[in-house]
Amino acid sequence: TIILGIESSCDDTSAAVIKNGVLLSNVVSSQAVHEAYGGVVPELASRAHQQNIVPVVHEALKRAGVTKEQLSAVAFTRGPGLMGSLLVGVSFAKGFARSLNIPMIDVNHLQAHVLAHFIKESEEDNNQPKFPFLCLLVSGGNSQIILVKAYNNMEVLGQTIDDAAGEAIDKCSKVMGLGYPGGPIIDKLARQGNPKAFTFSKPHIPDYNYSFSGLKTSFLYSLRDWLKEDPDFIEHHKNDLAASLEATIVDILMDKLRKAAKNLKINEVAVAGGVSANNGLRNSFREHAGKYGWNIYIPKFSFTTDNAAMIAITGYYKYLDNDFCTIDKPAYSRVTI
Ligand code: ATP
Ligand code: FE
Repeated sequence: TIILGIESSCDDTSAAVIKNGVLLSNVVSSQAVHEAYGGVVPELASRAHQQNIVPVVHEALKRAGVTKEQLSAVAFTRGPGLMGSLLVGVSFAKGFARSLNIPMIDVNHLQAHVLAHFIKESEEDNNQPKFPFLCLLVSGGNSQIILVKAYNNMEVLGQTIDDAAGEAIDKCSKVMGLGYPGGPIIDKLARQGNPKAFTFSKPHIPDYNYSFSGLKTSFLYSLRDWLKEDPDFIEHHKNDLAASLEATIVDILMDKLRKAAKNLKINEVAVAGGVSANNGLRNSFREHAGKYGWNIYIPKFSFTTDNAAMIAITGYYKYLDNDFCTIDKPAYSRVTI
């Protein structure tokens, strides 16, 4: 079974080929045009996808050593994401599958972030989470604790009621005048800083839900006060600010995850999504493994942010379930797991 996966939900155009669960290629073309704007500009993203989609798919097939005639099915991100971006990948995938007379498989982008843990890089790669497991999904648009019961059965136990963790990091980074996206920049600066240098407010909300908008405001107001005292405050304290912000976010995320693991008595715990590239969060996972006996699953860096390998692996499991979609199914910009 050979699946072509296509991802175009935001600002990365990606295509990947998976054969019987093993990854043959994963090509990602990230769009640099948005950097100058400090955020993704939807219309520019859509146009860039149109330019990139054909060469990216071509390259993925070439690197996999697979011809289009050998494909069993085409899997694509149907949502959630930016409508103009999604439409490019969805339309291309449908047309491609139709022309080859093979099934098309619609994939939920958030489920795919979780199932990235099942991408095998070789036949011998056998370190996958066991069902049921908990997955902390932290990305640019989502912060959720998910109970994963099976490949096709996930339950959201809690989620952010306002901003996502990645969004909060990106906004705080913007306030500090750093580049976009802020996540990797904050991560790098934080390595040289003191995580206890500053304290920012933490939310008090019930259940397994998250909130990050209060932290963002607290960061902004504190910074404004400090800048009144010292106009070069950011320059002088960049590393400590980044380290303290990162530590606060990691604490907020882990507090609820620990609570869920304890209450549900589950010690298989995974992390997924773009923010799972963060070193502070990854280290905290390792500490929790030692302290609470968790079996932890941390994705390879290239499978944290958006990629088509995760779409192809999700498509592969749907293929085994004969779970196909028809050509009339539209893209959806908003949807939960
Ligand atoms: P969604 O999957 O919810 O639709 P998305 O696809 O835009 O959102 P991802 O690509 O999974 O999100 O993740 C992007 C986010 O990850 C950005 O907010 C980015 O700043 C953050 N990020 C990337 N690398 C790091 C890092 N090393 N540390 C912290 N955050 C990071
Ligand atoms: Fe994503």
